[in-house]
Amino acid sequence: MTLPRPRVAILGGGPGGYEAALVASQLGAEVTVVDEDGLGGACVLTDCVPSKTLIESSSTMTSLGRAASLGLQLADGGNPVLGVDAPALYARIKALAADQSNDIAEHMTAEGIRVIQARGRLAAGPLGTPHTIEADGATVQADAVLIATGAAPRALSDGAPDGERILTCRQIYDLPELPPELVVVGSGVTGAEFASAFQALGSQVTLVSSRERVLPHEDKDAAVVIEGVFRRRGMNVLGKSRAESVRRKGDGVVVTLADGREVAGSHCLLTVGMAPCTTGIGLAEAGVHLDSRGFIEVDRVSRTSVPGVYAAGDCTGVLMLASVAAMQGRIAMWHALGESVHPIRLSHVASTIFTDPEIASVGVSQATVDRGEVPARVVKLPLATNPRAKMGGFRDGFVKVFARPGTGLVLGGVVVAPRASELILPLSIAIEQNLSVEQIAHTFSIYPSLSGSVTEAARTVMEFGTDAIA
Ligand SMILES: Cc1cc2nc3c(=O)[nH]c(=O)nc-3n(C[C@H](O)[C@H](O)[C@H](O)COP(=O)(O)OP(=O)(O)OC[C@H]3O[C@@H](n4cnc5c(N)ncnc54)[C@H](O)[C@@H]3O)c2cc1C
Repeated sequence: MTLPRPRVAILGGGPGGYEAALVASQLGAEVTVVDEDGLGGACVLTDCVPSKTLIESSSTMTSLGRAASLGLQLADGGNPVLGVDAPALYARIKALAADQSNDIAEHMTAEGIRVIQARGRLAAGPLGTPHTIEADGATVQADAVLIATGAAPRALSDGAPDGERILTCRQIYDLPELPPELVVVGSGVTGAEFASAFQALGSQVTLVSSRERVLPHEDKDAAVVIEGVFRRRGMNVLGKSRAESVRRKGDGVVVTLADGREVAGSHCLLTVGMAPCTTGIGLAEAGVHLDSRGFIEVDRVSRTSVPGVYAAGDCTGVLMLASVAAMQGRIAMWHALGESVHPIRLSHVASTIFTDPEIASVGVSQATVDRGEVPARVVKLPLATNPRAKMGGFRDGFVKVFARPGTGLVLGGVVVAPRASELILPLSIAIEQNLSVEQIAHTFSIYPSLSGSVTEAARTVMEFGTDAIA
């Protein structure tokens, strides 16, 4: 007897949706994805991929800026030869994003996944079950539904983005020029990344932070390094400065702070958080519970409050990362289609802030250790003593490792360095595989290499590290 193929319907084609679609299809399901903006979602088309492409250019600019200190000349008879062709830069970013989206579309087609490009919503299905998605007149019935509709940038209540001078992070690539004087409102991950990138490209950047320091939710030592680098490179960092409103004035903008001060610039970039895309798509009517901020409530295998309806990615607000969205989506499909599945382990998620230098972290944080929630030994090795860093002319950064006292099991780490996003992997593997610092210390690293600081930190932590908590 041949069993009928299970049917899966997915609302949203970002990493939460398309990774789930690929898993479901490989497990033999008949899969339909309904997406309104393009496969890859905001991640590929407007957020993660475009911003990292911009940062690739800005990092190259920073590297070239070190040329003179490396004994190279980047001038022609005293005239600097380095500049930014903003239209070409933005065009490359948009073309790369579109290309990546097309690659995903081709992959989906090759897997036999049906894609409907339209806005969709959850609707009541046969016998009143909410296992139906309606999209542009089409009705897709399914045994399991995944909601992966993402999130959209928030704005200030007083200062709506106009796409010309007052911008969200999704509008910046449509500018005709590099913003000469950019005021970035918000000093979280997105604000810090754009401030770092545009400063490197040549904009005069003012970073408005409501908190005492930039990156208030990240490792304090790392944030201090980055803020120092920002200031040294000429960025105007305004701490304890809450922006109340932004308005256009002449050819520029004026941001008004809560204490009445005004900050002027040519453009303002708002990076004040993301709001879930969960309204008007039939969730409440179907009984799907949302939290007070509108995020879909899910458990660790991506189930919502309604049987057969799963959710993944930014619309759940779990951890707004593409890797987490993708894992939530895969887990949802493994669960829905009867495969064995491990609940998502958020304590193992590695993340990077793509400032220059980058900040990558995984596992327990300094804050949890300081609060006494996790006993740990800690060592922090400055990058400045690493021979490869000296050769490259890098002096800002460090490798920090947390280990369990006694057993030496790796509990977490923070790397602040160029390409820290690549250097964090050995610590991620150690955490996932329950490795000890001794095992990392006994692993060959390349001489000279930045990763040599990871093995050195592992060698040092048990011997000279301090017990952060007795
Ligand atoms: C500037 C910026 C930079 C970032 N950089 C990184 C990074 O470097 N690394 C990282 O891991 N994360 C990064 N992120 C976060 C990452 O982009 C998100 O976590 C990721 O996009 C979440 O994926 P998703 O599938 O939940 O949603 P999305 O990628 O937002 O995709 C949702 C899709 O659903 C569609 N949709 C929504 N509603 C409907 C509807 N009713 N009907 C049909 N389709 C609908 C949308 O059109 C969209 O295509 C960044 C975010 C921002 C803002």
